[in-house]
Amino acid sequence: MTRLAIVIKERCNPIGCGNYLCARMCPVNREGKDCIIPSPNHKALIVEKLCTGCGICPNICPFDAIRIINLPEELTKQPVHRYGENEFVLYSIPTPLFGNVTGIVGVNGIGKSTAVKVLAGVLHPNFGDFKAELPDEKEYYNRIIRYFKGTQAQGFFENVRKGKVKIAYKPQQVELIPRNAKGKVMDLLKNVDEKGLLDSVSDELQLSQILDNDISEVSGGELQRVAIAATVLKGASIYIFDEPTSYLDIKQRINASRLIKSLVNEKSSVLAIEHDLVILDHMTDMVHIMYGREACYGIVSAVKPTRNGVNSYLSGYLREENVRFRESTIKFNERPPVKLHLKEQLVSWDNIEKKLGKFSLKASSGEIKKGDMIGVLGENGIGKTTFVKILANVIKQDKGDISKKIKVSYKPQYIESSDRTVGEALKTAFEKYENQLINPLFIRPWALKKVSELSGGELQRVAIAECLQKEADLYLLDEPSAYLDSEQRLVASKVIRDFIDHKGASALIVDHDLLFIDYISDRLMIFTGKPAINGNVEGPFAMEEGMNKFLKELGITLRRDKESNRPRINKPDSRLDREQKESGKYYYV
Ligand code: SF4
Repeated sequence: MTRLAIVIKERCNPIGCGNYLCARMCPVNREGKDCIIPSPNHKALIVEKLCTGCGICPNICPFDAIRIINLPEELTKQPVHRYGENEFVLYSIPTPLFGNVTGIVGVNGIGKSTAVKVLAGVLHPNFGDFKAELPDEKEYYNRIIRYFKGTQAQGFFENVRKGKVKIAYKPQQVELIPRNAKGKVMDLLKNVDEKGLLDSVSDELQLSQILDNDISEVSGGELQRVAIAATVLKGASIYIFDEPTSYLDIKQRINASRLIKSLVNEKSSVLAIEHDLVILDHMTDMVHIMYGREACYGIVSAVKPTRNGVNSYLSGYLREENVRFRESTIKFNERPPVKLHLKEQLVSWDNIEKKLGKFSLKASSGEIKKGDMIGVLGENGIGKTTFVKILANVIKQDKGDISKKIKVSYKPQYIESSDRTVGEALKTAFEKYENQLINPLFIRPWALKKVSELSGGELQRVAIAECLQKEADLYLLDEPSAYLDSEQRLVASKVIRDFIDHKGASALIVDHDLLFIDYISDRLMIFTGKPAINGNVEGPFAMEEGMNKFLKELGITLRRDKESNRPRINKPDSRLDREQKESGKYYYV
């Protein structure tokens, strides 16, 4: 067995626990040895060689900061990389396959970005020896080639050393790009355009309108598309995309995935980390699953054909490796039961018009019933938030009628952090909804943490709970799946649906993850128009009618996977795609 002792530094709080409670209770320390000691940065430091794995310290730490993990040696020969003492360990990396788009799927904090950074040459692995000095370039390649001897990765790194493989890499955190890149979007893209495709790629990614803008002025979704364009335009043999669809709406996700797919030929390969399972399934030919334990260690599975890989991921079991990495299987019903019995109206509207600067919004007529779960689909910047603010009487429409004033609780798309602790922000949820919100969203360990110190995924879960803990007639959740990994998205969709059903309230859920919307909604509203110019509110429609409208606009058809029941995009021009388009059934029934 290999024993790992992990201390989650952000959680370890020796002042809060009364001066290293773990060290005081550790039986090895009590024998006079130094198994747990204070580190120079005032956090607990656990000496793995002395740890007997008794399991006392992880249970006794009031901040859930310690993990002691025993791993079978065959899984963990020599690490590829370890960040430091008592820190995350990566045990393997994926392999780029020429002629294929290979996806990587796994929960947040399992080492996906670390693994692709090693392949991209952005991170030089230390093979577990985090104290050693970094070797020079020559010695680095000698070591990495020796480490991967006998595997496909050996050939890959030999070719990188010989300069035969050129890598283009899109990092995860596109919001950091303006720190290093300066100037107009057009000039930045021209500098990397080794293929002379700037015009067509800008068209495909809908960037033409912002080419003259300074990079410091563009939004998150625009930055993502600029970063994808900059990667696609390079003349590389391996393209790596770390979460290419964050911030993008569905139309942009489909366009980006088409472009990424088109990069592959017999001399090139694409690797992509993706949490939107419908897009991952659509974009990739093969899939690696990364498993292990969040913030502790990560292992890359053997590569699998995409359909089997995604189904294995949902099942939580890797047959070839004989590894169960999740206790439960994630299942989809054909559809959650649709509430046909809803009769009582919550609110209705008639011929609404609103102008905000250059943007104008129109909503003909519609109603929300008590108990409605309505998914909202549409491009970014098309008036979804404006419409809800009108319903909530936060802003007044210029024309038209709203039947009555209702109480709305709203989770915005961009969440503001604050200096309050999570416990303070979620006081009602901790008091009243522990089992419905706090426990299933795994919020308890951050109770004492400041909201401003949370990661994107943590902040999103807190924001969902904060919105739901308030008393309201209508809950509006704007992009609740953003920053969540695929597993957290499925958990969040269930939590939201169960909570609102239980309360008998109504909800509008705006999201760009088709699987999320498909699971959570009974009816659909569609926003059409031109972003930042005009928006039209259509619906609510019955799910099938709304999806048929929306998917037709996108030019895609959906089917259900026979084994897992999850939605899948049909291959363009496949028999099913043609048949469904001819019969007007873009959405499976
Ligand atoms: Fe205290 Fe937990 Fe840190 Fe140990 S790991 S010092 S028990 S906060």
